[in-house]
Amino acid sequence: MSILLVDRKFDRFEDVTPEVLRAEKIKLLLCDLDNTLTERLSSEPVEGLEEWIKDVKSAGVELVIVSNNIFKKRVQSFSEPYGIRCVWWAKKPLSTHLTRTRKELKIAKKNTAMLGDKYSTDLLAAKFAGIRAWKVEHRKSYLKDQQK
Ligand SMILES: [Mg+2]
Repeated sequence: MSILLVDRKFDRFEDVTPEVLRAEKIKLLLCDLDNTLTERLSSEPVEGLEEWIKDVKSAGVELVIVSNNIFKKRVQSFSEPYGIRCVWWAKKPLSTHLTRTRKELKIAKKNTAMLGDKYSTDLLAAKFAGIRAWKVEHRKSYLKDQQK
């Protein structure tokens, strides 16, 4: 069942390169925060995050963090320094905030993807919103596997 929710799989956010975004005609990338862009509860940006955000932006893609985290300050600490928008307490799998953000930015469904680590929230919300559902590996388990 869960596999049916996924349009594309990546190991980590860094694999979503400007080339991939261009090839997929993505103009808006909605992105989960915890365990996708960073390790849950870590307040340190993971290495490479800043550079990746710059790359995505310079490819002309709007990047918006859409997090279920209820702590506004935590979510903003990962968006404000990079000049990107964020939504906290997004209540995924409800698609309300995904669709609202997409409509505000006037970007078509077919040009929008949601990137996240969790089937029951991120990917289900993407399906409800009618946009591309892109799965990344849970950040912590990915890093652990790399250290083995
Ligand atoms: Mg997550």
